[in-house]
This record gives sequence, structure tokens and C-alpha cells, in this order.
Amino acid sequence: MSYKRVGVVTGANKGIGLAIVRQLALQYPKSPLNNGPLLIYLTARDKGRGEAALKDLYEDPRLKKAKALSSDGGLSEIRYHALDIGDSQSISTFADYLKKTHGDGVDFVINNAGIAMQGFDTNVVKGTLAINYYGTLEACHASIPLLKPNGRIANVASMAGHLSRYSDEVRKQFLASKTEDDVTKIMKKFASAVEEGKEKEAGFPSAAYAVSQAGLIGATRALALAEKEKGGSVLINSCCPGWVVTDMTKGKGHKTPDQGAQTPVLLAIGDIKDKSGTFWQDEKEVEW
Ligand code: NDP
Repeated sequence: MSYKRVGVVTGANKGIGLAIVRQLALQYPKSPLNNGPLLIYLTARDKGRGEAALKDLYEDPRLKKAKALSSDGGLSEIRYHALDIGDSQSISTFADYLKKTHGDGVDFVINNAGIAMQGFDTNVVKGTLAINYYGTLEACHASIPLLKPNGRIANVASMAGHLSRYSDEVRKQFLASKTEDDVTKIMKKFASAVEEGKEKEAGFPSAAYAVSQAGLIGATRALALAEKEKGGSVLINSCCPGWVVTDMTKGKGHKTPDQGAQTPVLLAIGDIKDKSGTFWQDEKEVEW
């Protein structure tokens, strides 16, 4: 069975990631965004949690009612694959699998996996940047060569990474960053300032999650620029899903996971007029 579009969602065993997979599956056959059935890889770092989520989706009354899924062709299909974005081996194993299985390329990757750790110290900063910043970027690097021309990367970041939270100097540095290395330098500056207990004096908030998200938004812009400079046509954008009721927010928020999924889904398969390097919220481009 050949699928028109193949996509990947990271951290998809629960929360917004799981809702993204559900919303993608619901695009066919109902929506004008639809251009044929999808093969969606629901990826998760834990096999048990990933397979349980896959089973839940195949039993989901909304998907059943819409006659959205089948695993024997004609309709969209969801498959589980292991992916831990904090583990380079896991990233390369999955990339190799995709290359072998989908020689003609992948259409989109939604990098949704992320963590919010409690507290604030050097370990929290290290752990948070390792996943939300370095891990997500490693997943981006592994997927760019696998994407079809006009393929998409949608990085789920957060409004917590908005530049209003920084000193003028750091904000200017973020905005002037043209390359991923430029952004990584800012992340390193933050990490060393935290080690010295001087992040506020250095112009940063005392918030690992927020800085990791600013880094991700900045690096997404840089990756998009690099893609354009090499003449590539992959569209690479980031977004905030809104304040969504999930385990991460301990059940607080204004949006359901399915509402939170709308903007990432739009960036992956919707009409975004060839935008790349931009930041979105509520299905609109917003200022960083
Ligand atoms: P959840 O905590 O509910 O889900 C996070 C998902 O990421 C889980 O599936 C988790 O897997 C997975 N994950 C964590 N670390 C890794 C890893 N190393 N490799 C692969 N998967 C991993 O959070 P949300 O659904 O709320 O958040 C999804 C994304 O949206 C995050 O990037 C978050 O920063 C962002 N976001 C969320 C907001 C909100 O209000 N909820 C607001 C703004 C942004 P596991 O179950 O194994 O831990």
C-alpha cells in the first residue's frame, strides 16, 4: 500500500502529542486539508505506553465514527515506533528505519516531545535543555534529509519562550541569531550563568523551561534559514499549542489537547503559504 503522506509525531503517547495523532487521522476523509490517507508514526520513548496509546486510538469512538482508520489500505493508518529524543541511538535507529521503509521520503515531522522539570538548579537546566533544546534539534537534523521536497517540520515550543522575558541585550542576541550555533551559544551562556547563580544579572529569567523554549524557537528560525540558503524547500516552523490541560500542566489550562493540537497540525499539513522560520499560536503567525 502506498500512502500519499507519511508523518511522524514525537512524544505521542499522551497529552498534546496523542491528540495531534488523532487530529491528523481525522483529516481524512473529511477535511479540505486532506489530500489522501496518511500513515502516521505515533512515536514514544516507552514501548508499553506507546502501544497502549496506539490501541486506544484504534478504539477511539471519534475515529471509529469518522471511519478514519484501517491497517489494510484505503484509510489512514497509525503505527507505533520507539523514539527517545534524549538518546542519539534511538534517533538514528528510527531515522534508519524511515529511510529503509519510505525511500521516497517523509512528508512531515511534528516534534512535540518535551519536558517541564520541577525546581530550578543546574541539573534542572541541564536536563531540560537536553530534551527540549538539544534533543529536539537532533531529531530535526535526523529528519531533514528524510523529508520530501516541500516537506514540513513543526516544532512544538511555547509562549514561555517569548522574548519579552529577557533583558534588551539577550533579546537582541536572540533576534540577531542567524545560525543554530548562535542560538546554542545563548543556551550555553544561560547554563554557565546558572552555575554561577547569576542568570538574572545575565539577562535571563530563572526558568529552565522558558529558556529552552526560547532556544527552540530561535533555532527553528535558524534551521529554516539554513534550509533556504542551501536551496531546500522544507518548511520549518515552531508554535505554541496554548495553555493545554495535560499532565505537564497538572490538569490546568484553557484548551483541551485536541484544541492544542490544531496549530501543530496546521503547520504540518495545512495551508501556511510557504511560511518558514515563523512562530505560531492559535493557528496564526505571531511575533516572537
Ligand atoms: P505531557 O507531559 O502530557 O506529554 C509530553 C510527551 O513528551 C509525553 O508523551 C512524554 O513521554 C514525551 N517525552 C518526554 N521526554 C521525551 C523523550 N526524551 N523522548 C520522547 N518523548 C518524550 O506534555 P504536553 O502534552 O502538555 O506537552 C507537549 C508539548 O507541548 C511539549 O513540548 C510542551 O513543552 C509543549 N507545550 C505544552 C503546553 C501545555 O499547556 N500543556 C504549553 C506550551 C507548550 P512519557 O509519557 O514517556 O513521559
